[in-house]
Amino acid sequence: MAVEYQCRHCGHKIGRLEQSVVDMERLGLHTLSNEEKKDMVNYLSDGNIQVTAICEHCEEALSRNPHYYEMDYFIQ
Ligand SMILES: [Zn+2]
Repeated sequence: MAVEYQCRHCGHKIGRLEQSVVDMERLGLHTLSNEEKKDMVNYLSDGNIQVTAICEHCEEALSRNPHYYEMDYFIQ
């Protein structure tokens, strides 16, 4: 089983964790509300888990342009 991190804005694959057991606490996911989990965590058909996050590039762009936080997809 693997956990894939993908940027929610540009779709960039940030990283991939291979592990036999997914530890929500180690991933920091236990701090999310159920609503956030539904939004950020996808259980893929191949058994892997995809976590929607934000890549360095988009984080930097957002920090320069904070109002972009209101837009889900500002990079096409
Ligand atoms: Zn990105």
